[in-house]
Amino acid sequence: MTRPAPNPAARRAQALRLAYQRMRARFGHLQWWPGETPFEVCVGAILTQNTAWSNVERAIANLKAARVLTPRKLYALPERNLAALIRPAGYFNVKARRLRAFLQTLVEDFGGRLDRLLAGDTATVRQRLLAIHGIGPETADSMLLYAGAHPRFVIDAYTRRIFQRHGWCRGDASYDDLQTLCESALSQKPLPARLDYWQDYHAQLVITGKTYCRPRQPRCAECPLKPLLPNRPQSKTIGH
Ligand code: SF4
Repeated sequence: MTRPAPNPAARRAQALRLAYQRMRARFGHLQWWPGETPFEVCVGAILTQNTAWSNVERAIANLKAARVLTPRKLYALPERNLAALIRPAGYFNVKARRLRAFLQTLVEDFGGRLDRLLAGDTATVRQRLLAIHGIGPETADSMLLYAGAHPRFVIDAYTRRIFQRHGWCRGDASYDDLQTLCESALSQKPLPARLDYWQDYHAQLVITGKTYCRPRQPRCAECPLKPLLPNRPQSKTIGH
């Protein structure tokens, strides 16, 4: 008896799992934890908005050198002093305001205890984070996945570009569309293995995006995902 051909959703899920295997075989497990502590992860998640991670590292280094990288000490800093310290991360006045909004909730509502802020069921904690000024879905999900051990797949510009170029999503797919796609296709492992899988999967997409899947002139010939490219070029439908 011949097996029925997998439907498009099943084929796409298969491709996404294979993509991880191929990236992992190239780069190994990346042991990627964007920060030395969960609090540093959260600060980094806000600072990394619209800038490269290397700039965030310089801003975090300033905070460490000033010995203020704790919720209460950071919250006690006047906004202009905070802005000066995080200047390397760019948009420093905006980010100082956002950081202070996050710190206000953390310190005033949760006693400065990040474990309390991030405690509860995932949907509730996500809503709590999204209610804070300057925290959008990508920032909230980075905090959830990397600081709070909550299973939410993080979607970023690299994810979107790679998925569009491979025809795994439509050009107009929303953040939620992409997240639903990843979470439903990549839920085969039970927790906590799934947490590690999603943390590392996102890290693999970031390194693949940075190294090969550049906005212009992607280096497909050297990329571990080349065998998963569709036969038909996607560039017309996705606008790159
Ligand atoms: S560089 Fe090419 S093969 Fe690699 S992820 Fe981008 S589109 Fe795919």
